Amino acid sequence: MIKQLDDYREIVGDNVIASIHRRAAKLYGKHVVHINSTYQGGGVAEMLQTLVPLMNDVGVDAGWRILHGNPDFFGITKKFHNAIQGEEIRMTDIKKELYTGANENFATYTHLDHDFVIVHDPQPLPLIQFYQKRQPWIWRCHIDLSNPSKELWDYFKHFLLKYDTMIVSNKHYLRSKLPINQRIIPPAIDPLSAKNKDLDDGIIPKTLDHFNIPIDKPILTQISRFDKWKDPLGVLDVFKKVKKEVDCRLILCGSMAADDPEGIDIYEEVKEQAGKLLNNGDVILLTVENNLLVNVLQRVSDVIIQKSIREGFGLTVTEALWKGRPVVASNVGGIPLQISNGKNGFLFNPDDNDGYAKKIIELMTNPDMAKSVGHTAKESVRSNFLITRLLGDYLELLSSFWKCPIPFNNDA
Ligand code: UDP
Repeated sequence: MIKQLDDYREIVGDNVIASIHRRAAKLYGKHVVHINSTYQGGGVAEMLQTLVPLMNDVGVDAGWRILHGNPDFFGITKKFHNAIQGEEIRMTDIKKELYTGANENFATYTHLDHDFVIVHDPQPLPLIQFYQKRQPWIWRCHIDLSNPSKELWDYFKHFLLKYDTMIVSNKHYLRSKLPINQRIIPPAIDPLSAKNKDLDDGIIPKTLDHFNIPIDKPILTQISRFDKWKDPLGVLDVFKKVKKEVDCRLILCGSMAADDPEGIDIYEEVKEQAGKLLNNGDVILLTVENNLLVNVLQRVSDVIIQKSIREGFGLTVTEALWKGRPVVASNVGGIPLQISNGKNGFLFNPDDNDGYAKKIIELMTNPDMAKSVGHTAKESVRSNFLITRLLGDYLELLSSFWKCPIPFNNDA
């Protein structure tokens, strides 16, 4: 079934629905194309799967194209991803050629005569170089931009200065010396997707059974790609501390995204370090890509952890809050936008493993506390981080171009 805005009325209320329709009015029939580099895996694909049909439903003609790349290309863009988050990188001609080459290929085979082009993340950023520019181009960066490698950022500006607007997830990612228009639009989740929708009673035990997941002990879960920025080894360390006080299990669920070649190495390392706990079944590692499984895990876990070292936004946090679960997470990137410490979840410095462990033990042994935090958590997502809010923000941004082709409100 194709998603329609009306399906969300019961969850967000009439006022939200009407305000979205109002905002779409200037955009009827306009062609919008979103471009990213994967249909599956990761937060971007997740959002586009709902955003694109909803844009169409409100009268915008929206499409979605994928920039295909080979393993070398994804290896390089992964390095870029790490360097945007502050790691050193050596920019070589070969890296630049492979990067721009995949973009040039795409441009050779794909016409873009839309009214707006929205490019997501660094992989397709250079595309703008290979088109005769005839419309506003928007770069939507989902990554933490607070401290990018200077060398890489300089290189990116080569493309970025041609864009009309850059969208970031949070005010700390605005770039003070970037003379193009910049907007803050936090991401959002779809409450009706397979990953987030309410589940009938029978489905949960069936799914647990299918994936061999026992619920005889309390469960701590992190759902994230096996990626060093998500610190799965740190989660394992926290779990070992918790396990001394509460007999529980840890689930690490991380599908392997096509654009994330480091995943397998990190997975192997976690597996090795989990050692005996893994053999006893107290650590469960899952690498399947399955939305229903994520939904079920977020509902049956006693505590959800997101121990990221860097985190652009952290959709997994939003998803877990929406399930009304107690979430313990790092005070980094987009996570503090979502969690107000002690109210709808708990925040820690990423290296405070003791603090994490203590709070998890407290939550596992005090169900009333967990329930009350969980209730506040769900309502906080309803107010701020559902896909309807994201749709409204995009419509407003695109309409602003219609009034004035090249808005510029950045003082830098
Ligand atoms: N995800 C998933 N299966 C997994 C791991 C992650 O479906 O095994 C999803 C997760 O539910 C979320 C997205 O991938 O919707 C990850 O988004 P997030 O912003 O948390 O992190 P990113 O991977 O984009 O850095």
